[in-house]
Order: sequence, then C-alpha cells, then structure tokens
Amino acid sequence: MFGNNSKLPFEKGDGNCLKVHSIFETIQGEGPYSGHQAIFIRVSGCNLACKFCDTEFDNYKALEIQYILKKIQSFEQIKPLIVITGGEPFRQNISSLCKLLIMHDFNVQVETNGTLYLDIPNEVELVCSPKISNNKYNMIRDDVLKQAIAIKFLISSNIINYSDISEVGQKKYDIPVYVQPMDEYNDTINQKNLILTQEIAKKHNAILSLQLHKILNIE
Ligand code: SF4
Repeated sequence: MFGNNSKLPFEKGDGNCLKVHSIFETIQGEGPYSGHQAIFIRVSGCNLACKFCDTEFDNYKALEIQYILKKIQSFEQIKPLIVITGGEPFRQNISSLCKLLIMHDFNVQVETNGTLYLDIPNEVELVCSPKISNNKYNMIRDDVLKQAIAIKFLISSNIINYSDISEVGQKKYDIPVYVQPMDEYNDTINQKNLILTQEIAKKHNAILSLQLHKILNIE
C-alpha cells in the first residue's frame, strides 16, 4: 500500500497453485460493472509500486485453484461476477484459473495495470488501469488492448502526471474510457479530485467511475 510493496517479477508457475491475498464477497465498485454483485479474488504482489496505491496485497496463502473454485461456489450469490484483481494478476500464471472459472460458466473480469499479459480465454474481460512511468503514460500492450472492455484512468488534482488522460491505445481499439478520482485519504484533496475528474470526463467524453465500495464502506 502507498508504494511500500516490493516490486515483484512475473512468477511462471504451473498455474495450479496461486498466491492469494483474499477471496471475498462484495460489489464491483468501479468501472463497467460498477454496482454488480461480485466475488473478488485478490492475488498477491505487484510488478509496480505506485505511491498512491490504496490496496493491501502483500500477505498471501498459496491456494490450489480447485480450492479457489470451491470457495467461490460456497458463497450464496446467484451467478456473481468474478473479479481477479491484485496487486497485478498477470504477475502470476492465472491462465488455468481463468479457464476453470469460464468452464464453470462464471463471468470473469481481470483488473490489470496493462504491463503484463498471459494467454487467457477470450471470454475473460480485462479492465486496464494504466500507470505512469518516467512522467508519461506508457502505451498499453496490444494483447491487453485486444481483450480490454474498459480503460480506467485515475485522476488526481495533486499529482500532476495524473491530472489528465492521454492515448494509451483506447482510440486505436475503440475502448470505452472511464475516469475515476484517486482516493488520496484527504477529504479536501479528494473533493478537488472529484471536481477535476468530472471536468476531465466532460473534456474527453469519458465515463465517471466512483468507488462505490468506499461510499458503502465495504471491502
Ligand atoms: S499497479 Fe495498481 S496494485 Fe500495483 S502498485 Fe500500482 S496501484 Fe497498486
């Protein structure tokens, strides 16, 4: 959290066992499925360390993917959206997990920073939140863009690099763009971020995304 995590490299693995921080019921609070009932699989570790990161993902248990499936099936939700998030999910070999979930007829979304990719079923939808390095947005990888249903930019009035959006591949592939105020754990800054985000949404004809789970004060 807040960039205190170690930057961890890609771990190949056979995909049958993953380092998982937590599996929990919630709603998807962000992006195109905002408001949908969901089960989140938060995998551990990230290849980046953003100073504004609002997520704790360091601790983990090594879980077999069959165990993960049983855990998901133990929740009483009717056809929930399964969100694989992190950290950075593509840092680990999530291919087999994605295949297993699709085989069991779940809708699966992977949230990624767009710097890594693995071969996963076409049915899996990617939501990519690009990050900045060396003071500019890197273009998102083509393999991520081809499977992305949304590009979600974080907006900050406080961090100049995140005060506007740019082309990272969304125009090339005609991908809907969401803009979301960054949560900087400061009411005054957050209010400014919200106002700026609405301005950016208007300027770029983007869709406003708020973190509904935070408004509801749930995980
Ligand atoms: S890419 Fe996302 S999960 Fe990784 S450190 Fe940055 S904000 Fe956190």
